[in-house]
Amino acid sequence: FLEVTDVSKWYGDEQVLHDVSFEMDRGDVTVLIGPSGSGKSTMLRCVNRLAEAQEGSIRLDGEDVLAPSTDVDDLRREVGMVFQGFNLFAHLSAVGNVALGPQRVLGLSKAEARDRATDQLERVGLGNQLDSYPAELSGGQQQRVGTARALAMEPKLMLFDEPTSALDPELIGEVLEVMHDLVEAGMTMLVVTHEMSFARAVADEIVFLDAGRVVERGPPEQLFENPEKERTDRFLDRIA
Ligand code: ATP
Ligand code: MG
Repeated sequence: FLEVTDVSKWYGDEQVLHDVSFEMDRGDVTVLIGPSGSGKSTMLRCVNRLAEAQEGSIRLDGEDVLAPSTDVDDLRREVGMVFQGFNLFAHLSAVGNVALGPQRVLGLSKAEARDRATDQLERVGLGNQLDSYPAELSGGQQQRVGTARALAMEPKLMLFDEPTSALDPELIGEVLEVMHDLVEAGMTMLVVTHEMSFARAVADEIVFLDAGRVVERGPPEQLFENPEKERTDRFLDRIA
């Protein structure tokens, strides 16, 4: 469903991804882990072309993501992304933030977009905060609005880049719970996170990146309990 093959990327002279390959089936959850600067965010951003991979291929549901003919707007409609920061519009309510894409990009009527936004906000447990503004919401609630906003576009793939790392510890659980529900619902998810218990619980595959290279990948039991590479072992020791 998602096939990443020998993807390389440079920023200027610096190569930040080296022949990165992994693949996912529909409904799979893949978790990217690795030290700071290893290229996790860059890899995610190449999938929705917020960053340009210079070599290799990325195929999503049969489509050639990197082809010059690929419409980047269409691609981003199909690939939802949730970032570390919440990036909500401060002057729009929760429902206004979530309805914006469906109305502006998908062309739904105002009422249809609002209905869809309401459904998605209920799904992430915010049915009672529809009209709250971002400043009135906790970080965890804002992150759930951000997730609802991505879901309202009915993406076929969701990218999460450290969605909980800006949150106070007591707010992390509610965001992970929403992500858990998405996994149960069969969403295909590519996730960067340091939440290893989450990764262990839901991932079909863990991909360990270091210095832009895939050092090792495999099911969580194997990678966490019995890593093949010494480098993986050291990294896991450090973050455990
Ligand atoms: P972190 O865990 O800190 O988020 P990461 O694994 O997500 O790290 P990236 O953000 O993908 O790492 O960065 C990989 C490398 O690319 C780093 O060396 C970084 O400095 C460099 N880099 C990232 N974005 C840019 C950019 N827009 N311009 C130049 N260099 C960049
Ligand atoms: Mg990052």
